[in-house]
Amino acid sequence: MEGRLRSWFWALAAGAVLLIPVVERIASRNALAEGQERAETTLRQTVNALESHLRRFEALPALLAQDDDVGTLLATPGDAGRVAAMNRWLAETNALIEASDLYLIDLDGNTIAASNHARADSFIGQNFSYRPYFTAARDGGSGRYFALGTTSGVRGYYFASPVRDGAGRVQGVLALKIGVDEIEAGWRARDYRILVTDPEGVVFMSTDPGWLYRGLLPLTADRRARLTETRRYADADLAELPVVSSTTGGVALMRLADGDGAEREYMATQTPMPRAGWTVRVLLDTAPIRAQARLVVLAVALFLLVGLLLAWTVAQRRARLAERLAIQAAAQSDLERQVIERTADLTQANADLHRMQADLVQAGKLAALGRMSAALSHEINQPLAAARNYADSAGLLIDRGDLPRAQENIAQILGLIDRMAAIARHLRNVARKPNEPLKAVDLAAVVQDALGIAQARLVAAGAEVTLDLPADLPPVQGGPVRLQQVIVNVLSNAADAVEGLADRRIEVMARAEGDEVTLAIRDHGPGVAPAIADRIFDPFFTTKQVGSGLGLGLSISYNIMKDFEGDLRVANHPEGGAVFTLALRRARVRAMAAE
Ligand code: ADP
Repeated sequence: MEGRLRSWFWALAAGAVLLIPVVERIASRNALAEGQERAETTLRQTVNALESHLRRFEALPALLAQDDDVGTLLATPGDAGRVAAMNRWLAETNALIEASDLYLIDLDGNTIAASNHARADSFIGQNFSYRPYFTAARDGGSGRYFALGTTSGVRGYYFASPVRDGAGRVQGVLALKIGVDEIEAGWRARDYRILVTDPEGVVFMSTDPGWLYRGLLPLTADRRARLTETRRYADADLAELPVVSSTTGGVALMRLADGDGAEREYMATQTPMPRAGWTVRVLLDTAPIRAQARLVVLAVALFLLVGLLLAWTVAQRRARLAERLAIQAAAQSDLERQVIERTADLTQANADLHRMQADLVQAGKLAALGRMSAALSHEINQPLAAARNYADSAGLLIDRGDLPRAQENIAQILGLIDRMAAIARHLRNVARKPNEPLKAVDLAAVVQDALGIAQARLVAAGAEVTLDLPADLPPVQGGPVRLQQVIVNVLSNAADAVEGLADRRIEVMARAEGDEVTLAIRDHGPGVAPAIADRIFDPFFTTKQVGSGLGLGLSISYNIMKDFEGDLRVANHPEGGAVFTLALRRARVRAMAAE
């Protein structure tokens, strides 16, 4: 990977790792703050419910204390009939107001009538002089107290009010006890822990029964003495509840053991209820909160991981791409270099080739010139020498007066001159005009004309010509006179080839195939030796004796065929004899129309 990218990636990874603790702090703080809000709401609701519950009963003892029968009974405590009537009334009233117990106490603290008079653990005859609610009411105030019933063992809140006579003197105390079990039971269904403590820090209401009658504050001797004196918790076994308190980010935390002994951490909110002298606490288990924060951290970590992986992949891909591009660029420049080298080589080779071709052409020209001079000197020297002889003889014969024989010699000389003139004519043909316009030519007609011209030569050689010319031959592209010249040439060569042989057949055959029309002329002569096959089209190449050929026929014919955009080919027939093939192009329609 590219160095710069790599360092970027590692910086990113380090940033991500550093980010985790920050995220963790923020997440747990947020979760705790949210939890605290919930806990505080619960706390408010709990306190409100408790207060309204207490308020419902608060004024009742004072109200009931004003009843005349209450005062009368206190004035005449021994009257069994009145006691029974009072018991009934208290029971009815108690049921009506839905309290736990309602009872009447005399100034000594002895209970003289009670709503629970019928029960085995009835309050009647019990002395409550040690209870602060009694003393407060006896002294003219209103008593409020929370305690565990000494008789019933049932927790309750006590309200008490003095009963006064007409002069306003306190005659006794009317007390009302309400239970808290129901309220407490209502808390249990929630996922909060609720604790209510008394001024001494002892838990007397709790969602967790294991915490009941446990002190959140150290149980000092003072506290113990006060609790024993008022017998608030009767004979309940008091103990301290080990609590470790701390705060995180303004949130109060408490660690304490549950009833099952497992220690847990709670987020704690608390508020006092001054009138009752209570403190209400709502505890929220921090484990789910912390788990939620951890989940957030995990999610963020996962997100970062995915991001990093993505970044890594992208970086890798970019690096690979860069590498590939570099390789491509290297390959490209390599290729370019090779192309330049090859081009240079090729240019050199081309130049060499051109030079070689030029050399060859030059050599070819020289060779042709050499052959031509040889041929011409043979062809002309021989008749010249002969003519000179005839002229010498003619001179001698004239001197002798033998004019008829001298005339004969002169005729011979004329014949030789004619022959030389024929050679000159032949040479003129070499300097033909190559660019005559091409026309559509009827091949069969041209073949017939050529046969007519070559007739004398063919007859002289004793050749037997057979013709195979299809009637529907298409017209071909060429010039009629030049084409005829070519055919005459080839026919003459064939006549030369078969002359003096037993088999003197010459077969002329035309065929049209696709765009090409061919005319094959086959003889039954010796054929063309492979060694000279590629030289017979050269000018002045001949295997014939002096006076029989200039070696120009095939050369001229070949060039004419090329002018017609055709070809002249030679091959040996498998059964002997040479086959000369004139390949011609089918005439184009436009050319036909032009004719
Ligand atoms: P020339 O007939 O004057 O020799 P050409 O160019 O017509 O010149 O022919 C060149 C040579 O090709 C001939 O000398 C001969 O060797 C060879 N040749 C041409 N036609 C035939 C043929 N039908 N059979 C065998 N050889 C041939």
